[in-house]
Amino acid sequence: MLAGRRLLMARVVVAGGAGFLGSHLCERLVGRGDEVVCLDDLSTGTEENLSELSGAAGFTLVVADVSEQVPVEGPVDAVFHLASPASPVAYLARPMETLAAGSEGTRRLLELAARRGARLVLASTSEVYGDPEVHPQPEGYRGNVDPVGPRSVYDEAKRFAEALTMAAHRALGVDVGIARIFNTYGPRLAPGDGRVVSNFCVQALSGQPLTVHGDGTQTRSFCYVDDQVDGLLALLGAPVTGPVNIGNPDERSVGELAETVLSLTGSCSTVEHGPLPVDDPRRRCPDISLARRVLGWEPTVPLDEGLARTVSWFRERLGAA
Ligand code: UDP
Repeated sequence: MLAGRRLLMARVVVAGGAGFLGSHLCERLVGRGDEVVCLDDLSTGTEENLSELSGAAGFTLVVADVSEQVPVEGPVDAVFHLASPASPVAYLARPMETLAAGSEGTRRLLELAARRGARLVLASTSEVYGDPEVHPQPEGYRGNVDPVGPRSVYDEAKRFAEALTMAAHRALGVDVGIARIFNTYGPRLAPGDGRVVSNFCVQALSGQPLTVHGDGTQTRSFCYVDDQVDGLLALLGAPVTGPVNIGNPDERSVGELAETVLSLTGSCSTVEHGPLPVDDPRRRCPDISLARRVLGWEPTVPLDEGLARTVSWFRERLGAA
């Protein structure tokens, strides 16, 4: 039903397309026949993530920082805004750039969408809920974010990006969709970006201790990247503004994740506990009733299966290195 609204052979701009999630999205769009212009400043994304696409018909990489310029000529049917450092280690190392990507980057991409009559899908985040007092988190929950805490550079950038997107929708009539993305994992997570899944996989496969922050009882809900891309494409093709949570409601503790990675890798690594980062949310789990209802979407890849695919990718990558 919703797929019927998809534009055949659309021209799609993917800002942040050289990142972990962006590169999977670009591959899927090119695979279904769309033309893709990937904009990325390669600050956290890499050309290596796009190696499957290099030389592919209908794919172009333009190296540019969208908070400074959006050099795209010609018609545009859709814009995805995924351009931002996304892991805590990456955004804490680039606080000003992260705020600029959410503010100026969003404004420039909305202007592009307005000028070309394109639909814009904003990659927002579960971080807009901060350390939530409502569990699981529905879209109507307004969040518990410390506006001056260290994580605010990412959380408030995304909250502002949502506000800007809604303002462009209301004031300028831009066709928009806002996705609130929960923790996503899979092949091509950057080994050094500090996320829990990449850290545990690398540590388990190289015999180092798994670094659990705090007592490991904090929870996250992990969505396999293919499911996440399905959700984003469903939002692109649906007449839905959102925000809509796109994530997997299978909630796990960080300690449980460590045990699962140890058992999947057959690793003899130990588990070491360290300090919990400032403002680290205690728990996080999406309420995806809205996505099920308006997008007809829900995740299908169980954690064990997605982690097994991810581990095998890391095994190959570490072997090659
Ligand atoms: N975490 C951990 N060990 C690590 C990296 C992260 O215990 O080596 C914890 C982190 O403190 C948080 C959870 O795992 O409680 C998820 O962290 P991640 O950086 O992957 O994502 P986010 O905090 O943005 O959800």
